[in-house]
Amino acid sequence: MSLALMGGTFDPVHVGHLRSAEEVASLLDFRTIRLIPSYIPPHRRLPGTSALQRLKMLKLAIQDNAQLEVDDREVRREGRSYSVDTLAEIRQEIGDVEPLCFVLGIDAFRLVEEWHRWRELTDYAHLIVMSRPEMNEHPRDQAMSEELNAWIESREGELQDVSLTPAGSVCFIELTQLAVSSTSIREMVLARQSTRYLLPESVRNFIDENGLYR
Ligand code: ATP
Repeated sequence: MSLALMGGTFDPVHVGHLRSAEEVASLLDFRTIRLIPSYIPPHRRLPGTSALQRLKMLKLAIQDNAQLEVDDREVRREGRSYSVDTLAEIRQEIGDVEPLCFVLGIDAFRLVEEWHRWRELTDYAHLIVMSRPEMNEHPRDQAMSEELNAWIESREGELQDVSLTPAGSVCFIELTQLAVSSTSIREMVLARQSTRYLLPESVRNFIDENGLYR
């Protein structure tokens, strides 16, 4: 029963995020899936919404699900949000023994070499890399640099084994692919198209009431 973390901008959170959290939870017997919104994502344009608005939407999205939790440490820390800092902090809080998994989409992982101190990520957690709808192949078959491939080869593991060690491996998994992205939702809001069933009603209402993405 270990802890899984999912980082992201969540601008806004949508059913793609929630469904993948649900499936990851059922694949492994995770006690909690913790969603961690970034304050300033280092490798993308600044979100048009505030960190507090993105945090609020996440809280609304998970309120009926006891297995999901929101962790606001990156928002409280402010500045650029580096996953390695977050993983190091959480590792310190849970101690050296408990397995910890950091779940991310292949779209994010294939750029991991641009991340701050990326090689240290596996000192603190296992990396679980999931498929993304717009990327058809198995996530392990995506083009990656030679250096990243070599790094993966030395630590690639099977999902069922991540509960045996606290950290250190990289696993690739395929999930049901819901073709939803925050980008497409922002574009639909801007174009005044319906976003119903793509994100929780509570989040849709919040976007509407606060005039977000207009
Ligand atoms: P944007 O369109 O603004 O880039 P996004 O929809 O990719 O946003 P993020 O908040 O950047 O959402 O994603 C957080 C994490 O969730 C990433 O690891 C991403 O790969 C994953 N993710 C996002 N959408 C989906 C989806 N539809 N299915 C599975 N995973 C997803």
